[in-house]
Amino acid sequence: MSRGGEAINLSDLSGEQVSEWLQSFDTVLCDGDGTIWQDDTAIEGAPDVLNALQQRLGKAVYIITNNGLKTRQELFERSQRLGFQLPSDRHIISPTAAIADYLVQSPEFDAKRHKVYVVGNAAIARELRRHGIDSYGAGESEELAPGDKWQDFAAREFGNPKAAENVGAVVVGWDEYFSYCKMARACHILCSNPSSAFLVTNRDAVHKYPGFCIPGTAAFVAGIEACAERDALEMGKPNPLVLEPLTKSGALRTERTLMIGDCLKIDVGFASNCGMLSLLVGTGRYSSLSDVQREKGKLPQPDVYLPRLGDLLPYL
Ligand SMILES: [Mg+2]
Repeated sequence: MSRGGEAINLSDLSGEQVSEWLQSFDTVLCDGDGTIWQDDTAIEGAPDVLNALQQRLGKAVYIITNNGLKTRQELFERSQRLGFQLPSDRHIISPTAAIADYLVQSPEFDAKRHKVYVVGNAAIARELRRHGIDSYGAGESEELAPGDKWQDFAAREFGNPKAAENVGAVVVGWDEYFSYCKMARACHILCSNPSSAFLVTNRDAVHKYPGFCIPGTAAFVAGIEACAERDALEMGKPNPLVLEPLTKSGALRTERTLMIGDCLKIDVGFASNCGMLSLLVGTGRYSSLSDVQREKGKLPQPDVYLPRLGDLLPYL
């Protein structure tokens, strides 16, 4: 099985080839939505496969998600509720936790002195709080009141130039209350305090549902990057940075790791950015191997494909 070549349907391989493939990795990173669950429902067979990979084959298994709407602990509780037997919440890699861990370890960020401005949802604030970090703005709406002028807003909110010095980071996540006022506040902090961190949960462009699509976090952060004239650091897939805590501690070797996911751009792209093996499942964006192969030349291709993660169970 060559990396970066034509994707192969795993079920077309012989038993011997599959067992060789199973021996080529020690660690499994597995995406959440579209791969092992859809919101609060497990995809059939997925818990059995991840549990068997750990218990029968001795693989280390992590769930890695770009979901910034829940804390690591909340995602761990969901995994337990749905039957996934992970050893601890440290086996969940999520953007909210990656952001909090990053700030705790950053020499420029001082939790005693600094707070965080969040353009995003309340889970980011909950995760920061668990790590002893104060924040404001998360989950709230901020709009110009009728009759209010932007000049009045700016004079009122940004009149004290020292106020931004206490803000050590701007964090952007998916925000249903995104507004001009929030963008102005983030722009003011990032421009007047160049040492502040600028982090984003992920750059997911669009969330597609049956019958409609909604803007993802990429759209919000692009607006703030444009006015702040700075690039945010991405704390989700496909940025290899999110694996650094595990690679640095020696818990994970990327060349002995399999990434399982349903999205070519994010999951297979992440595998390719990190030098990992990849398995794409057809329970999310792509429902057949030919859909995947049609993207060849435009999007990264997985090493192997399976219609559902549950199809791996007979080999384990
Ligand atoms: Mg997914």
